[in-house]
Amino acid sequence: MLEINEENCIGCTICEKVCPFGAIFVDPEDKKAKVLDTCTLCGACVNACRYDAITIKRKTVSEEDLEKYSGIMIWGELEKDELKNLQIKNVVFELLGKAQELNKTLNETISVVILGPPGKIPPIDILYHYGADEVFLCEHELLENYSTDGFTTVITTLIINEKPSIFFYGATVNGRDLAPRIAARIAAGLTADCTAFDINKEKQLVQTRPAFGGNIMASIISPFTRPQMATARPNNFQIPIKDTSRKGDLKKFEVKIEKQTIRTKIIEETISKVDTINIEEADILVSAGKGIGNKENLKLVKELAREIKGIMSSSRALVDLGWTSHPIQVGQSGKTVSPKLYIALGISGAIQHLVGMKSSDILIAINTDPEAPIFKVADFGIVGDIFEIIPQFLKQLRAERRKN
Ligand SMILES: Cc1cc2nc3c(=O)[nH]c(=O)nc-3n(C[C@H](O)[C@H](O)[C@H](O)COP(=O)(O)OP(=O)(O)OC[C@H]3O[C@@H](n4cnc5c(N)ncnc54)[C@H](O)[C@@H]3O)c2cc1C
Repeated sequence: MLEINEENCIGCTICEKVCPFGAIFVDPEDKKAKVLDTCTLCGACVNACRYDAITIKRKTVSEEDLEKYSGIMIWGELEKDELKNLQIKNVVFELLGKAQELNKTLNETISVVILGPPGKIPPIDILYHYGADEVFLCEHELLENYSTDGFTTVITTLIINEKPSIFFYGATVNGRDLAPRIAARIAAGLTADCTAFDINKEKQLVQTRPAFGGNIMASIISPFTRPQMATARPNNFQIPIKDTSRKGDLKKFEVKIEKQTIRTKIIEETISKVDTINIEEADILVSAGKGIGNKENLKLVKELAREIKGIMSSSRALVDLGWTSHPIQVGQSGKTVSPKLYIALGISGAIQHLVGMKSSDILIAINTDPEAPIFKVADFGIVGDIFEIIPQFLKQLRAERRKN
């Protein structure tokens, strides 16, 4: 929180002028600065104040209090399918796999928090089968659709009550919206877009994510705040093996929210065209890079994708050129994918691209340059021209199909 030292404050209003959020003002009555709830602790006023009148006081948990926090908790994000039924997102199962791995060192409880409307929540036994020890069920009509206000309020209250030591969210559109809101409410740290987790000797969560354009991997710990919160990229961790004999505890959490708490209203729900091209869920991706030469030539990539029942994706180079769109970009600033088969056509294999597809089961790369970095990670590498190899392959494939 922001603290005003009233003895030092002379009411000069500099803080008021520099605050980008209009969250601080000088009270005309006592000529002292006052802070509003909209303060984000960005620190602009602290740096601007010439009289040492403003300080940020960050909440830290004492050694004693740290002991009170235990367990790994995961937000069990739900999404609507085409029939508008709620389903558990894949990233929840991926995080359960990772939590089980970390728990070999921690040996604590793994729980999943599910929010949704009464009677419409999908069967939750599956969460036990994939590693949850307990599920917190938060049911309320107002939780039918995701809302920042509603979900933040409920999960914040749950965290305060249950005191998990670790809290994971999928780095999905909603996860990226929700996690920072909760972090701000409970004054906890948050590491976004993690690609790896570990537990160190002090039993702290080590959160790893790419930094400086993917050139280094930063390992981040949160020693003074709890829970240790992180979002993790979908498709980055393996879904664990299902064990249908596992059982767990269902805990119903009483939800207290009012209609006025939720400032957003859903007026209409539509499935956009972009949503139908979900490269994150595809089993086969045929990915085009700058080696494709021009936009017209993407026809060849689409043709190959269609023939082998795959979906076209691309490197960022093509998105930057305006030849493809961002929803199909693979990589650090695009999507993380883990198909069974990834075919890289004319992609050099820059680190920022590789971080987005390194967990593909099989990678086939075609590139004219034998020194291209993509060959270092490819399972099968073909040094050659895509415009010779792909038409040849399609010809043979069709001939084989005719024979059968
Ligand atoms: C902060 C940051 C974030 C980034 N995020 C991403 C990201 O999310 N995704 C991403 O992809 N990139 C990302 N990049 C860009 C990345 O660094 C590379 O520039 C990009 O991946 C290169 O794309 P490319 O492989 O298609 O093109 P190039 O590097 O130009 O490679 C083209 C390749 O095609 C080969 N080739 C040429 N002609 C043929 C042919 N006829 N047949 C076969 N092979 C041929 C060439 O030998 C070459 O290897 C990011 C960069 C930064 C700085």
